[in-house]
Amino acid sequence: MDNSPPFKKVLVANRGEIALRVIRACREQGIRTVAIYSTADRESLHVKLADEAVCVGPPETNLSYRNIPNIISAAEITQAEAIHPGYGFLSENAHFAEICQSAGVIFIGPSPESISLMGDKARAKALMRETGVPVVPGSLGAISSEDEAISLSREIGYPLIIKASAGGGGRGMRIVHQESEFENALHAAQTEAFQAFGSKEVYIEKYFQNPRHVEIQILADAEGHVYSLGERDCSIQRRHQKLVEESPSPVLSPKLRQEMSSAAIKAAKAAGYINAGTVEFLVDDHRNFFFIEMNTRIQVEHPVTEMLFQYDLVKAQIRIAAGFSVDPPGKSFGHAIECRINAEDPWTFAPSPGTLDRFLIPGGPGIRVDTAFYEGATIPPHYDSLIAKLIATGRTRQEALDRMARALLEFEIDGIRTTIPFHLALMTDEQFRKGTYSTGFVEQFLLRRPWEKRRKSDMA
Ligand code: ADP
Repeated sequence: MDNSPPFKKVLVANRGEIALRVIRACREQGIRTVAIYSTADRESLHVKLADEAVCVGPPETNLSYRNIPNIISAAEITQAEAIHPGYGFLSENAHFAEICQSAGVIFIGPSPESISLMGDKARAKALMRETGVPVVPGSLGAISSEDEAISLSREIGYPLIIKASAGGGGRGMRIVHQESEFENALHAAQTEAFQAFGSKEVYIEKYFQNPRHVEIQILADAEGHVYSLGERDCSIQRRHQKLVEESPSPVLSPKLRQEMSSAAIKAAKAAGYINAGTVEFLVDDHRNFFFIEMNTRIQVEHPVTEMLFQYDLVKAQIRIAAGFSVDPPGKSFGHAIECRINAEDPWTFAPSPGTLDRFLIPGGPGIRVDTAFYEGATIPPHYDSLIAKLIATGRTRQEALDRMARALLEFEIDGIRTTIPFHLALMTDEQFRKGTYSTGFVEQFLLRRPWEKRRKSDMA
């Protein structure tokens, strides 16, 4: 293996914990880093930790973290050879990846072609179907006419889901329970899709009542190696957004894991995919799995896999972008789980930005905390509400959950509300501990008013 640094200097086109994560991966490989920041982030840790920092605009993301000309200029001025986009912002923007290419800067991620193929979810599904990867039953590509959609919806049966082809982040989806609602729902979904994503293309698929969301992490290098690093179960969601992720999935048998990994590798190969990526599936009650989409970036929940395999995915991304091969992942060990700690009310999930009067992070065996915050820091209202990712590992699922609960109790944050009490209630919930949950779990869990139970146990 070539041990020379893959690049001399990398620009990190992101903020928050993921910017720190990339800076750390660079530093460990002897790569200098350039941070970019908006005027709201002057005091941010990613600015302090990078070797250089360039202000790219005001707080509004369109003018700063999504401002392509300013970011490319920052790379040119600082002579960065490559740009790591992190997740969110420009990470799945094929146009940005193309502009990087034409400016002679390496985009650390897949090719613009792979990004745009997978970014069009209807097209991606069509390709998967041709490749022989099981997909959720539904329209072949985007809906072209209302009549076609209605006859197809009869074939699929209700309930069904209308999704934006260009959708993401749990948005642009509409569940339809009966035919009388279909026409209105279709029009509303098209209008919403256009407003949110600039394209009114939608597709329809069967709506599974209580599936599991299980995704496979893959790594593919330019030499043609495509590896699977197992799954992450992300069924603990609220409004289609992930709150907790764990691996191994409590419901996967070794055989099913093998089958899903092979399907994910097949998917990546069919798309000519190079770099880290995630193939997302729904798993039904009978343990059948169906492709929903592929994410062409490093994901928020990547640490779960990193801990399980003791494998640095961000370093691998950088090496792959430089044309180096990566090591096979080897064997995983034990169990890992991640809780997303957000600046939100723990039960209503209403945003709660503000200043962290106290910020004491947990530690000890099997605990990893990925955060860009510190005591006295202010959480700006302009960006997402993630304050920290808390990852716990253990030899068994039980040990990982016990450690997570212990670490959540140690975590002290004052000045804002956080989702820590939600996670604590979840970690000690009997049903969650059994592992028999689906994507509908959180809704049911909240109906059981877990905050009352907590208060009683606090008083005991
Ligand atoms: P996004 O890219 O917006 O995150 P996904 O297609 O990945 O959208 O879906 C997000 C979540 O929405 C899934 O994890 C699942 O909970 C739910 N979902 C998506 N498609 C279906 C479906 N066909 N049936 C049931 N739930 C679905």
